[in-house]
Amino acid sequence: MTMAASHAANKKLRDAIFGATAACNKAAEKYGLDKVTNATIGMMMNDEGGLAVLPTVEKVYRGLETEDMFRYAPIAGLPAYLEEVEKLVFADNRPEGYIASCATAGGTGAIHHAVANYAEQGTKVLTSDWFWGTYNVIANECGCKLTNYTLFDEDNNFNVAAYANKVSELYKEQDSLLVIINTPAHNPTGFSLTEEDWDHVLALAKKYAARGKKMSILVDIAYIDFAGERNEVRRFMKKFSNLPENVLVMFAFSMSKGYTAYGQRTGALVAVSSSEEVITEFQNINKYTSRATWSNINRAAMTTLVRIQQDDALRQAYETERDNFYQTIQKRAEVFMKEAKECGLPALPYNGGFFLSVPASDPQAVCNKLHDDLIFAVPLKMGVRVAACCVPEAKMHGVAAKVLKALQAV
Ligand code: PLP
Repeated sequence: MTMAASHAANKKLRDAIFGATAACNKAAEKYGLDKVTNATIGMMMNDEGGLAVLPTVEKVYRGLETEDMFRYAPIAGLPAYLEEVEKLVFADNRPEGYIASCATAGGTGAIHHAVANYAEQGTKVLTSDWFWGTYNVIANECGCKLTNYTLFDEDNNFNVAAYANKVSELYKEQDSLLVIINTPAHNPTGFSLTEEDWDHVLALAKKYAARGKKMSILVDIAYIDFAGERNEVRRFMKKFSNLPENVLVMFAFSMSKGYTAYGQRTGALVAVSSSEEVITEFQNINKYTSRATWSNINRAAMTTLVRIQQDDALRQAYETERDNFYQTIQKRAEVFMKEAKECGLPALPYNGGFFLSVPASDPQAVCNKLHDDLIFAVPLKMGVRVAACCVPEAKMHGVAAKVLKALQAV
């Protein structure tokens, strides 16, 4: 017996993290928390294993007035929030063109809106073969299908040829295409596209645009605050100036990592186009989709961001704290990558972000084997994900060698 509508009946989330976390908790109970290495969590943890929250964000949030917490917000988002988000997204690299944004429930909401409104139902949405599993769930929910290109070539660089081939193949079947690119500091590998990689991506978009095809590119920047120097990691954004009007670039902005506001569910979808008409349409359709999904989003979190960004002292304190978090994760990841190199573990190239990955043909077996050493990581389809955001530096020593040992044992 099923009561669900036929299109909904088979929906079931497969959560790779749940099993790994459950096994970790069991081991912690048996052997003690200090003996286990939990590399499964997608949030920054301090060295004591507690949630790391940016003090300035917490202070401003707790100091909000009643109205800031409880009033409805405008459906498109607080205007001051959208203005600050646009400054945060681009820093000094704002492309020329028309720009608009829409507040969303986290980066997830931004991805949802992009797929719901820019991928033709029944068509394919393109992302790399190493990808955040939620893209697949959102594509299915919106009546599309996710398809992949091979992210890395044999030298672990961006596989331009694989990307170009896949785009060409898809344009034989469909006239418009949404591409999702998670950079800088990709989940799950920590990889970032170079400026040259972007030149290839945009040259291809222009080539097909000249033939009348439409391309929307969603840049998922969830981890941009953990990728390097602010303007350095955003330099590619200048390339989005003066693109053809049938190439739309969007950004999924999230307060989850950069503000440690994971549970506050606040983000934005930001769009750049050379066409004013395309941007007016963007505002109309995304506001409509917001109304149909969550209506308006978290006023308190939006206000917190505005208060921090519009007060020099608060902004500086926040940036210093966030940079310290970034440095902490970098140091943890450096330990892993250095030891991986020393022992010959083929870890994927890491530029920044919360996660590192190691390819494996049987990731679940490798993760199970790691349990012998009380190390808990997440088995993905193509490999093992180690969360540098939640493993203290001291515990990271030796993890790479143990992953290698587990890889060799299965
Ligand atoms: N994009 C990627 C690749 C992520 O890993 C995440 C969170 O884990 C997000 C976007 C969005 O997160 P949120 O919806 O919490 O803002």
